Amino acid sequence: MSGKRVIGNWKMNGSLDANRRLLQELLPPLAALTGVEVAVCPPFPYLAQVGALLEGSGVALGAQNLHAAEKGAFTGEVGAGMLKELGCRYVLVGHSERRSLFGESDGLVAEKFEAALAAGLLPVLCVGETLAQRRDGSTEAVIAAQVRAVLQRVGIAGIATGVVAYEPVWAIGTGETASPEQAQAVHRQIRALLGEADRELAAATPLLYGGSVKADNAAALFAQPDIDGGLIGGASLEAASFAAICQAA
Ligand code: 13P
Repeated sequence: MSGKRVIGNWKMNGSLDANRRLLQELLPPLAALTGVEVAVCPPFPYLAQVGALLEGSGVALGAQNLHAAEKGAFTGEVGAGMLKELGCRYVLVGHSERRSLFGESDGLVAEKFEAALAAGLLPVLCVGETLAQRRDGSTEAVIAAQVRAVLQRVGIAGIATGVVAYEPVWAIGTGETASPEQAQAVHRQIRALLGEADRELAAATPLLYGGSVKADNAAALFAQPDIDGGLIGGASLEAASFAAICQAA
């Protein structure tokens, strides 16, 4: 109905047993939901298991990361084609944990975004400022640089094929959510930046908010004009919470 999207990022959590139990509880309430596109992104080793459990449910599968190369001597890495073959529809690109803990630069993130598109995946470009950056007033510049790096590489049509997720680093896993107004302000900025390239495609690009989204704050965030859904961490591991967030979309 609303055309919104809700994506669960399980991060490095789960087990064969926990995944099965989570989906057993999650899928029935989601079956009744219309007009919201839901996806979950488990760790790589569980993609096949979760993909099989999702079959026929209408919930899509996503991965949390990929390597920019198609294949080759990159021990421990995973290519876009492999994710596609396992049934992934989405792949997160440039999550703040990848940027801060694994040194991913704006340039590398852009390469990954392009590789995902080339394989027919929908890349979810994650952008966001740290608390220090917000405090020193550089939020707008940081977000602009993160978005522009990808825009320069794949163009507005490329970005509009995928998804952009605004995740302020200070709101991730902290229980501190951006207020709907704070989130909307950055979403409007991202929409305007994309709009400099093409207004129609900018309007059609899904912009998700992430950072301590819970059942009790989701509706207010999703009601903002430039917030097209959510990217959910912690609450996506609890079936009742995640279902409630999807219902709020
Ligand atoms: P939390 O919802 O746990 O704050 O995590 C957000 C996130 O990083 C999703 O990618």
